[in-house]
Amino acid sequence: MKTLGLIGGMSWESTAEYYRIINQGVRACLGPKASAKLALWSFDFAEIAALQAAGDWPALDALMVDAARRLEAAGAEALVICTNTMHKCAPAIAAACQLPLLHIADPTAQALKADGHTKVALLGTAFTMEQAFYRARLEEQHGLEVLIPRAEDRAEVHRVIYEELVAGRIEDTSREAYRAVIARLVARGATAIILGCTEIMLLVGPEDSPVPLYDTTRLHAEAAVAAALA
Ligand code: GLU
Repeated sequence: MKTLGLIGGMSWESTAEYYRIINQGVRACLGPKASAKLALWSFDFAEIAALQAAGDWPALDALMVDAARRLEAAGAEALVICTNTMHKCAPAIAAACQLPLLHIADPTAQALKADGHTKVALLGTAFTMEQAFYRARLEEQHGLEVLIPRAEDRAEVHRVIYEELVAGRIEDTSREAYRAVIARLVARGATAIILGCTEIMLLVGPEDSPVPLYDTTRLHAEAAVAAALA
């Protein structure tokens, strides 16, 4: 079994899910006493969110590269960035660190394509929904057509992530808002919804959507297990 290096704490609410899913996966494959070999670098998300809000991506690149190097020094053999948004820093990490980086968009796209989806919708932070770093990988490398919510829906999806989900707050009114956003995306032709923020799975589940949900937290964590055991 390889040792995984998790860049986490963004937020710890979802990093805890990664830890659980990865260990459950290793147990399922290797037996009841088995658990994952991993090192975790866990950021203070308040510091990360402030830099995101300020648009200081060079500083965020530097922090992610520093985390990757610490994990490499700790014995990690593959890197897992436990957030969709911070994959904006994936090119900087890949340029500075030799370890394989398991990109969160890849197992997500592979699962969608295996199930025959071509026109999908993406929910996530405004960074993930609106910028090219994530959607371009889905569209150009994987050939998916990716819809995003209309502007006011994007603002609400983003607000709920930063004001509630990263703070451990799960609100029924926000679940209703997400259900309405999902319904509008399905009406535009999406046959699947990407939960492209690692905390959204804490708020919505299959019962909140008329089409299948693709939870990036679970898909990414399961891909990490497969890589560790390959
Ligand atoms: N965990 C979230 C994501 O998957 C949002 C927090 C962050 O900005 O990293 O995008």
